[in-house]
Amino acid sequence: MTVIISKGKDPQKAKPCFIHTQVNPHLDRRIICPHCGNEWNFYQIAEEVKLTTRYVQNADGSFTPLSDDSRILGEVKLYCGECQADLSKFHNRFLEMLF
Ligand SMILES: [Zn+2]
Repeated sequence: MTVIISKGKDPQKAKPCFIHTQVNPHLDRRIICPHCGNEWNFYQIAEEVKLTTRYVQNADGSFTPLSDDSRILGEVKLYCGECQADLSKFHNRFLEMLF
């Protein structure tokens, strides 16, 4: 990221000042387990998932799946992959950072 800042009111004296920053905007958003310090392994458990799978029946009577659609009806919880602590309070941030 390059930021250009012009200082001074006199345009002839003002020199552009280049500031290079290496700040990772995601760095302070990393989720770290407050219990064991783990920041690499997490898992999510969705309760009450309704899984709908569409099929087409072929001429020979066999079925071919067309699409899967899953709807989560219950709670979704986030856990530490190391100490299994419930980290659901970080779940919203987890979803924001899920790509
Ligand atoms: Zn942990």
